[in-house]
Amino acid sequence: MKPFTYARPNSAAEAVKAFAAAGRDARYIAGGTTLYDLMKLGIERPEHLIDVTAIRGLDRIETGGDRLRFEALAPMSAVAADPVVGRDYPVLAEALAKAASQQLRNMATVGGNLLQRTRCLYFRNGAGNPSSVGVYPCNKREPGAGCAAIGGLDRGQAVLGQSEACTAVSPGDWPVALTAMDAAVEVLGPSGARAIPIAELYRLPGATPHLEFMLAPGEMITAITVPKTPAGRRSTYHKIRDRESYAFALASAAVALEMEGERVTRAHIALGGVATRPWRATEAEQMLAGQPLTAAVSLAAGRAAFAGARPGRHNGFKIELGARTVADALMIAARRSA
Ligand SMILES: Cc1cc2nc3c(=O)[nH]c(=O)nc-3n(C[C@H](O)[C@H](O)[C@H](O)COP(=O)(O)OP(=O)(O)OC[C@H]3O[C@@H](n4cnc5c(N)ncnc54)[C@H](O)[C@@H]3O)c2cc1C
Repeated sequence: MKPFTYARPNSAAEAVKAFAAAGRDARYIAGGTTLYDLMKLGIERPEHLIDVTAIRGLDRIETGGDRLRFEALAPMSAVAADPVVGRDYPVLAEALAKAASQQLRNMATVGGNLLQRTRCLYFRNGAGNPSSVGVYPCNKREPGAGCAAIGGLDRGQAVLGQSEACTAVSPGDWPVALTAMDAAVEVLGPSGARAIPIAELYRLPGATPHLEFMLAPGEMITAITVPKTPAGRRSTYHKIRDRESYAFALASAAVALEMEGERVTRAHIALGGVATRPWRATEAEQMLAGQPLTAAVSLAAGRAAFAGARPGRHNGFKIELGARTVADALMIAARRSA
């Protein structure tokens, strides 16, 4: 591992200052459950680590008022276990509870989760053996190198949002649920504080897949806010994976429904495991508005969500799997009482 300096500031303002002083080769570190991994693999090579875990009072979970607010250092497990979140926003609690393992969720923070990097095998190639990093070309790891996943083993790759430079899937579950629920991210940076709608936090890969997030250098995530909505109670996060625990999604759907009787008045739908960023399924949402929610209508909405999908060689199954995941999620959410 490359040597690095280490600072442990006591406030968010000090952390931002320490980052600015350190320069572009700095990284914030929170739970460390993915950054240390990537450093050991030689993929992340920061010269300075700014550890934010000594900042007090940046782990609050606020459920009163007209919005939910989760501070960046709240552990994933604490938010997943919060009784109000579990009762009124099961989509959020389930997205967290179905991610990683209990031990990881105890360490990992809801802020750090948003900025985890792809699990694409070609991006992470060289696991456990830093000297072999770079055996397969990856534009995300090394801009301009090429993409070995295109034309390679692409079972896990994206079918939505990919470019000629990159097909890597956005890995997180929590960002998918937050996307469905129109969340925003509060950040503090050298130019002050601002809020970014979650839909604008993630870039499409285009020709520059190494640029993943719409954060300015040195901006630190301080909190996540979710507007309260009556759809929260009729919501779910449905995750399909190779094994039922401790695995990333092959396909997932975050769904929340506003209904009058059997009829959908508004649907919130986002997809995970299938796209290069958390993916809002607007075609499916529009199709459902005003419709009675039957199994056939749910499946049609699921298929609408994948109308623009472009499969590679081995991942075509994700289109039907994804459509059925959306359909099942809609039926699960609809059965929950508002
Ligand atoms: C074996 C394994 C299985 C996993 N399975 C899943 C899964 O199924 N689903 C899933 O969603 N995730 C999964 N994960 C990923 C896990 O959820 C993330 O590692 C975790 O959420 C990251 O949080 P952290 O606080 O540890 O982040 P860190 O590792 O500390 O940081 C992650 C990134 O965020 C940046 N960062 C951290 N905090 C801040 C901040 N406040 N402001 C700005 N930048 C910040 C860091 O610089 C780094 O780039 C898995 C991880 C492992 C190791």
